[in-house]
Amino acid sequence: MTRYMTERSPNLDPTANNSPTKKLRTVMLIDDSEVDRAVYRRYLQTDAEYQYTFVEAETGEEALELYAQCQPDIILLDYLLPDFDGLEWLVQWQRQYKNFCSLIVLTGQGDENIAVQFIKNGAADYFVKDRITPEKLKLAIGKEIALKKLQLEKQDLFAKLISRNEKLERSNRLYQAEIAQRDKLSKIIANVPVVIYAKYVDATSKQPGKLWLVNQEFQQIFKIAEAEAIGKTDRELFPPHIADDFAANDRLLIASKQPITTEEEVYHADGTLHTYLSFKFPLFSEGEITSIVGMATDITPEKQAQTELLQSETRFRQTFEQAAVGIAHVAPDGKWLRVNQKLCQIVGYTKEELLSITFQDITHPEDLHTDLEYVRQILAGAISTYSMEKRYIRKDEAYIWINLTVSLVSDSNDEPDYFIAVIEDISDRKALEASLQKSWQRLSNLHQIDKAILAAVKPQAIAETVIKDIQNLLTCQRASIVTFDWERETSTILATQGVKDDVLNNGLQVSLDIWQGIIDRLENEDKQGYITAHLSQLPKSSEMAIALENTKLDCFFAFPLNSQDNLLGILKLWFEEPETITTEELTMLEEISSQLAIALEQARLYKQTQNYALELEAKVAQRTAQIEEINQELKAFTYTISHDLKAPLRAIQGFASALQEDYGDNLDDLGQEYAARLISSAWQMTQLIEDLLAYSRLCRIEIQLKSVDLEVIVHRAIEQLQLEIERTQANIILVEPLSSMIGNKTILLQIVSNLLSNAIKFVPPKVQPQIRIGTEIIMDSAETKIRLWVEDNGIGIDREHQKRIFQVFERLHGNEAYPGTGIGLAIVKKSMERLGGRFGVESNPGKGSRFWIEGRQR
Ligand code: ADP
Repeated sequence: MTRYMTERSPNLDPTANNSPTKKLRTVMLIDDSEVDRAVYRRYLQTDAEYQYTFVEAETGEEALELYAQCQPDIILLDYLLPDFDGLEWLVQWQRQYKNFCSLIVLTGQGDENIAVQFIKNGAADYFVKDRITPEKLKLAIGKEIALKKLQLEKQDLFAKLISRNEKLERSNRLYQAEIAQRDKLSKIIANVPVVIYAKYVDATSKQPGKLWLVNQEFQQIFKIAEAEAIGKTDRELFPPHIADDFAANDRLLIASKQPITTEEEVYHADGTLHTYLSFKFPLFSEGEITSIVGMATDITPEKQAQTELLQSETRFRQTFEQAAVGIAHVAPDGKWLRVNQKLCQIVGYTKEELLSITFQDITHPEDLHTDLEYVRQILAGAISTYSMEKRYIRKDEAYIWINLTVSLVSDSNDEPDYFIAVIEDISDRKALEASLQKSWQRLSNLHQIDKAILAAVKPQAIAETVIKDIQNLLTCQRASIVTFDWERETSTILATQGVKDDVLNNGLQVSLDIWQGIIDRLENEDKQGYITAHLSQLPKSSEMAIALENTKLDCFFAFPLNSQDNLLGILKLWFEEPETITTEELTMLEEISSQLAIALEQARLYKQTQNYALELEAKVAQRTAQIEEINQELKAFTYTISHDLKAPLRAIQGFASALQEDYGDNLDDLGQEYAARLISSAWQMTQLIEDLLAYSRLCRIEIQLKSVDLEVIVHRAIEQLQLEIERTQANIILVEPLSSMIGNKTILLQIVSNLLSNAIKFVPPKVQPQIRIGTEIIMDSAETKIRLWVEDNGIGIDREHQKRIFQVFERLHGNEAYPGTGIGLAIVKKSMERLGGRFGVESNPGKGSRFWIEGRQR
């Protein structure tokens, strides 16, 4: 295939023929006919307005390649090419190139259809070769190029329009998105529970200015509508000092151009003051701050909590520091971690000194073991707290008693962290306890001595007790009690303890002389109740001086043992250091001495009393023996009476009766009367003897007690007195039933007979005896008693004689009026005494009597 490219014609050469007035056009000629191409060149070169450059191709293939290189303003295409038909080429060209220029089809013969096909496919015009003229061609080319240019311009304009439109749409979308974003942001700003505001910064003065944004939280808290707040300065909205604080922070921010976080205080609308944590940051425009934006959160509760915590910590620290007791934190190994002032005072160390040692260092060695044992138990979890009294060694090396209470604090891992120790100074209490203990001991000592006094034990035992107790009360090297025997002029060591008590031991007797000096002084200077003396004041040759010579003992206190005005002895106490003895102890020793003196005196009296008692006992025994002897004699006498007196009496009675009966006729009236009196006197004598025997028997015999039916007894007595009753026509009424009484049948019968016979006997002449006998129950507080009474209508008894008639031989009447022996009631009284009961009478003269006996019911 041949390719042609026409050379530029010489007049087209830009260096030679380049006319500055002509415009340039490039025409591509695609035609296999050289002639036709030459015709077209010639036609166009005549153009006065344009200068043409021709690019020529003979085949379609060549033309397609060339097109890319030359970019013609227009193509003149032959309809029939050797390798393409013009329509096909057109389609191919348009497919291959995007930018294509105008194209005019030139064909050998005219055909409407083809022309239409070409126009439809983008050709600009269609010419038949032989009908074309230079003018037509130039015109057509000029028109098509202009058209194409217009078309291109139009296309370009359109493309620009589209692009701008797209840009506009894009920016519109961005704008919408931004609006949406802003909307969200302002919603956040509005609703976030944080105060948000923004204010201008004045460009020239660099001072914070008017607010231009306040969110809802702001409006709510300050109860201000947005419209009211916007445009106002802080000064217009807040109290001056608050606004000044804001401004100060704002100025810091403006000066530094950096965000700041600060705490600001502000009043809410309800008047409460709140603290806000405020974050402020600047907004810039061209490097200059134009606004300040602030975000503030109410931290009042946290602040309050913080303040409270601070206060509580302060309080705690103050409590710790100013506590009236020592408080410390102690490490598990015993090291002091924190100590308060009071503890320092108690132990006499400074804080720094204490913190460099352990509690073990200042604990008294005797108390350490107990304390460490507690620590071991608390660390082992066996106990949670402990309390003990112990001693610390102060810095000045003095001991101090404290009460310690300890508890353990564990860390978050439940491991022992530290101990809390509370240390209370109890030295005063301990001193008080000690003094109480002493007082108690003193009291108990005195009590011991009192007990000894009461027991009135032997003086030596008393002295030994006192010496022992004194040694318990105070420290003395030697104590002894010496008693004086003024008659024998000796002294005895009653009890001793301490130095040389093996030599100067109990019971040792020494001459009274050696104490003379002491005794004289005690008598003369005993103002205090004691004296102090020295060994040198005792005679050098005395046992005392010799024994104590080489000891350390020199000074002793001598307390007199005074009982009334009698110096019984001395209590001596020897001290190596006499100045250590206190006034209190001296007072106590004085008390002991006076008690001791009483005890010794008491013991002496007791011994004396014992002696008296012994003497008395001996006397009683002697008297008893004498009485028994008399008693025996009395018994013998009674026996004599009963037997020896009764026999002659019976003889008198018998002979008097015989005299009456056998010699009655020989006797005159007086003789008769003498005989009768003799008989009656003898009978009376017999009666008296009987009664006396009965009475004395009562005193001697042993009585068996049992329950006795009084009814039986009363009936027997009535029987016994039947003759008398009949003789006197006595009326006897028994108030039945009659009870029983503890007693003895025989004795009770004797009693009732006596009472009944008296009731019959002691009535005025010619009066019929009216007698009532009954029993009654007497409720005694201890037991129930039975009372038997015998009531008569007799002569009665004067009150003043009522006791007397119970004695032996006591009678109120002569034998003529009322015969008797005067022993009956004495027998009743004695009988009731022997039965363990009582006997009595209620009577009025002329109105009868009521005699009663009272005994146990069971
Ligand atoms: P005696 O009857 O033998 O005189 P008693 O000892 O029985 O001795 O009585 C002492 C005295 O008490 C009597 O002498 C009498 O004076 C008085 N006496 C005793 N019983 C009665 C009585 N029932 N009424 C009045 N006097 C009485």
